[in-house]
Amino acid sequence: MRLIILGPPGAGKGTQTEFLAARYGIRHISTGDMLREHMRLETDIGNKIVGLMNSGSLVPDDIVIGLVDETLAGMKPSEGFIFDGFPRNIAQAEKLDELLLHQPNEGRLHKVIYVTAPDEVIIQRMAGRVCCPECGAVYHTTSRPPEREGFCSKCNSALTQREDDKEETVRNRLRIYRELTEPVIRHYAEKGELIEISGIGNIELISETLVRMLGE
Ligand code: AMP
Repeated sequence: MRLIILGPPGAGKGTQTEFLAARYGIRHISTGDMLREHMRLETDIGNKIVGLMNSGSLVPDDIVIGLVDETLAGMKPSEGFIFDGFPRNIAQAEKLDELLLHQPNEGRLHKVIYVTAPDEVIIQRMAGRVCCPECGAVYHTTSRPPEREGFCSKCNSALTQREDDKEETVRNRLRIYRELTEPVIRHYAEKGELIEISGIGNIELISETLVRMLGE
């Protein structure tokens, strides 16, 4: 199965992606995770993007597309995937269309999932989001708390708030999302590949609805 998940930051894409990747045995490809890993390891890419990432701006297309191209090239054509956080603008969407042509079925995607959520809910949610800087696990102080407050349930590291989850930065990310990423949703709607789901409500129920929409 080949999927993309799109939606504003904080709509719950990461949580649903983890679920779908496990459910369908497909690879979770998060450009945000790959870029954060470069920052953590202080690679050339990491050092170049740190300011952009921390302010919630988009990283240049050539860097992101390079990472995606490399990932796809390292996969078997038969391997399924779900892209989370990519493509973020029309140039990336068009490049992905091109890259996927080398995949089976001329790169047709099974579905593009569009998770919606209103701005005010997003800002509230992001304020409580904490992450593990070591293993990348994501928690929420009220809706998805770790077993021990302040510490990762998987690897026991101290949890931190992402620099780009601070309120002013979230507002900037939302502005960028509306301006650059919403046209990508129209791109896939026109191709007839889009399914839309609200990211508000019970996480398990949203997952079940998605499975019903996607089929086995
Ligand atoms: P995410 O984890 O998907 O919310 O992404 C976090 C940050 O990584 C974004 O605010 C951007 O700075 C950068 N980023 C992630 N994916 C992309 C992309 N496809 N294009 C450009 N920048 C990206």
